[in-house]
Amino acid sequence: MTLFIYNINSGNWRYGDHECQKLDLSLLNDLLTVERLKTIKLTEIAWKGKHHYPFNLGEYCYCCGGRKYRNCDPNIPGIIAYNCRNPYDNKYTMLDGRHRITKHLNDGKIEAEYYVFDFDEIKHFIRPYNRMNKELKRIDIG
Ligand SMILES: [Zn+2]
Repeated sequence: MTLFIYNINSGNWRYGDHECQKLDLSLLNDLLTVERLKTIKLTEIAWKGKHHYPFNLGEYCYCCGGRKYRNCDPNIPGIIAYNCRNPYDNKYTMLDGRHRITKHLNDGKIEAEYYVFDFDEIKHFIRPYNRMNKELKRIDIG
């Protein structure tokens, strides 16, 4: 998911100096441990497009026309962070799992398991992203 970008559908999610940014999930793999899994109330999570729900999402998703919604597996926990401001002023900001949370909500669930991070722990894994050629820009993380 493209994390931080201004878009008329999702609103202002801008973070840092770059217009368009994405979490590099390939760097995060080792950190997705069972100790981080927590059951979280879905209402406490901010995700892009939340204010549309239930419109323009799911089968009619504004970002993919429903393709990613139909193909996602809601049993795979999403990734959320605290200490990360979001336009909804929610406790957690979603970094991965926007289509899965729509499935949970459509299934009538009120909570689900998530990998929970302090945003400070993982913000250096967020990369400027070129949406045209779908490439993450490499940055030395020192
Ligand atoms: Zn979509």
